[in-house]
Amino acid sequence: MTDIPKSHPRYASLVARERVAEGVKRGLTSSQGLIAQGRGECFDYLLGEKTTASAAKATNAAAALLLLAKQPALSVNGNVAALVPEEMALLAQALDAPLEVNLFHRTEERVKKIADLLRERGAKRVLGENPDATVPGLDHARALATRGGIYDADVVLIPLEDGDRCEALAAMGKAVIAIDLNPLSRTARKATISIVDNILRAVPNLTAMVGQLSSAPRADLEKIMPGYDNQRVLGDAVNEIRAHLESNLGDVS
Ligand code: ATP
Repeated sequence: MTDIPKSHPRYASLVARERVAEGVKRGLTSSQGLIAQGRGECFDYLLGEKTTASAAKATNAAAALLLLAKQPALSVNGNVAALVPEEMALLAQALDAPLEVNLFHRTEERVKKIADLLRERGAKRVLGENPDATVPGLDHARALATRGGIYDADVVLIPLEDGDRCEALAAMGKAVIAIDLNPLSRTARKATISIVDNILRAVPNLTAMVGQLSSAPRADLEKIMPGYDNQRVLGDAVNEIRAHLESNLGDVS
């Protein structure tokens, strides 16, 4: 990977870009993943490249929902594998949940490479190589799912996902938690909880929150979701972008 000096003002963003480019080179990520990364970078820039108050609120609700889940599952695609393989393994461990590889541009070789990487980074249960069920309403490759994993899960985490799959999983009656920097995407609008944050920050924050809430009484966790309004959180994210832009206008005018 290119050596990026830590002092560079855009260090984190450049490291992320390098990781996705490296993911493409290693056959983990499809070339379309570079475009998704570019779109994410743009929104991260508009947000000020920080975890906002609305993202923290969504993360808190997501941790509670995952801890209350009977059978949670975490979805991994090529961008997620390139950016946060170890962090996803740690989150899965904290929740005792499986990771399931699901690719928009599926090839068996890429699924295996990602599954092997996740295992190498400490994941205990990795699914997706032998799907045995389909999610209704999606075309064949994207519909593939695994019993005991996403197919049977009541709560599914779908980082960097497209709107169709989010909608199809929600239509199966699952609670869906998205991580998506675009508060206007179909995914963000269709999810039960949308964490509008960079996955690089969101997954470690979520794991820390799971750790923090894991000793809370169940009754306390059950109070979090009824007080959570995802549409309001998305509106807050848009307002945070607006406030960030306004506070920077002085620099450019
Ligand atoms: P939708 O169908 O939901 O409207 P889309 O067509 O915009 O989605 P893609 O182009 O596949 O979806 O991109 C996936 C989403 O992931 C985009 O909204 C993008 O902003 C977001 N994204 C990309 N990189 C990151 C990242 N590092 N962290 C969080 N979100 C990201």
